[in-house]
Amino acid sequence: MVESNAVKSSIRWGSYPLIFLGCSFLQWQIIEQGLPYWPLTPLVATAGIVLIALLERVQPYEAAWNYDHDDTAVDVLHAAFSLTLIFTVVEISTLSRSFLPDAFLNIASVWPAESPLWVQVLLAGAIIDFGLWFMHWLSHQNHFLWRLHALHHSSERLYWLNGERRHPISALLLASPGLIVAIVLGAPAPVIGCWFAIIAVHLAFQHSNLDYSVGIFRHVLGVAEIHRWHHKREYEDAQVNFGEFWMIWDQLFRTFKYQRNGVRAGEVGMRENMPSTYLKQLQWPFAGRL
Ligand SMILES: [Zn+2]
Repeated sequence: MVESNAVKSSIRWGSYPLIFLGCSFLQWQIIEQGLPYWPLTPLVATAGIVLIALLERVQPYEAAWNYDHDDTAVDVLHAAFSLTLIFTVVEISTLSRSFLPDAFLNIASVWPAESPLWVQVLLAGAIIDFGLWFMHWLSHQNHFLWRLHALHHSSERLYWLNGERRHPISALLLASPGLIVAIVLGAPAPVIGCWFAIIAVHLAFQHSNLDYSVGIFRHVLGVAEIHRWHHKREYEDAQVNFGEFWMIWDQLFRTFKYQRNGVRAGEVGMRENMPSTYLKQLQWPFAGRL
């Protein structure tokens, strides 16, 4: 625990701008300078996530959430699989453009390929982010999609690893529509890869147990103090703040929620019981259906 107010304030207000913007700047420079995607991009993302994990130990939002809830080992497996899956899908789907028919590729002429790379990353990011918002919202409306998504809500605490605690089918369904639209419109592979690398760091922040704030930017960014409302145990209360990066979609569709008194330990999770082992968690959505 941190005693000094100055250190506490620095971590509280400096963590997100320094780590998130720092990593994003480096990711942008990697593609701007034509540096090798592998291993630099994953290395930068990993460094950012490790820093968040360390800062949680120094200045937690909830001390109780820093202790294992019989979930750490299984969450490591989920994170390893989810990240590998998403980056493989991004690689394969961007490569697949070379197999698309010419008529399809002509649509790509709408992509602003002459714009600065950071503009293209933000544009591809907005398309992918809206797709994620919509599929996430849909996952809370449709019973079977909810069964697939529920694993993400089953954690009894919020910490840096929760962002990747997902059923692989749910992860694919959430990311695919936005990704496909971005690819069809002609977003280049490095641009899409850069956005997913940036988002990996943001996701760790979004679920982290770090006591940090972005002030008024919480109304447009899906940071932890906003996203914790989405993890309220009561299903009726969790129908808010679906946004992954931008909260603009939630603002537009009136699903945004913020209250000054934040969500505390004991208030997150879900009513249904989720098994604690990896394979049983993967089978859970299909229970009674096979
Ligand atoms: Zn959800």
